[in-house]
Amino acid sequence: MRSPGVSDSSEEAQPLILVVEDEALIRETVTMALSDEGYEVVAVEDGRQALDIIRDAHVSDDNEISAIDLIILDLMLPYVNGLDLCRLMRQDGVTTPILMLSAKGTETDIVVGLEIGADDYLAKPFGMRELIARCRSLLRRASRQPQLPEQLVLQFQEIALYPQECRVTVREDAVNLSPKEFTLLELFMNNPRRVFSRDQLLEKVWGIDFMGDSKTVDVHIRWLREKLELDPSNPQYIITVRGFGYRLG
Ligand code: CA
Repeated sequence: MRSPGVSDSSEEAQPLILVVEDEALIRETVTMALSDEGYEVVAVEDGRQALDIIRDAHVSDDNEISAIDLIILDLMLPYVNGLDLCRLMRQDGVTTPILMLSAKGTETDIVVGLEIGADDYLAKPFGMRELIARCRSLLRRASRQPQLPEQLVLQFQEIALYPQECRVTVREDAVNLSPKEFTLLELFMNNPRRVFSRDQLLEKVWGIDFMGDSKTVDVHIRWLREKLELDPSNPQYIITVRGFGYRLG
């Protein structure tokens, strides 16, 4: 078992399984059984932690847990339940196979779980051998499917930026940005809360040879605000830091 953020590049890459289960005994038993089979396991106890890990892994290529291969997801969880979690992940475009666990083995639960994007379903109580067999089968199925390049998305509050598609949405609506506005926003979204001076922005977005002055930056910031902010005169996203420059958030 390893915890998020701990890196050991010397070990051979084994499939990484995220276990989301609030009952400590089940969580530990499952973690141990999977570890014994040679899988890497990250275990969390509620839906919020799970969502953080999944979103981190999904948006960041260089994250330690950038490639979760399988998610074992309990249905009844604190904060965000398994069904909502599953729905949110699929909405975010996360295609990682999901094996749902639940004490409620009724047909309705199974159908709902599968319809909102779970790949398999196991009713509690279950045997570890069955769990392992189902994990193996899901991992096998996933590895046979052609690997589509993962959709990369930068997210800041209600802004989503898709670097590969040069596309931005705010509050789910598409926003038309000029190439410079896009590059500017991408820089901010890659460095949330970091303050950039006008000169730094000029150099990074317009290039070192650009002959214009820092007014160019102010103008583009104004245009970005007009396109992104609900109230451009009272910006919530791109903030002026008096005497220094601008930052996102
Ligand atoms: Ca539970």
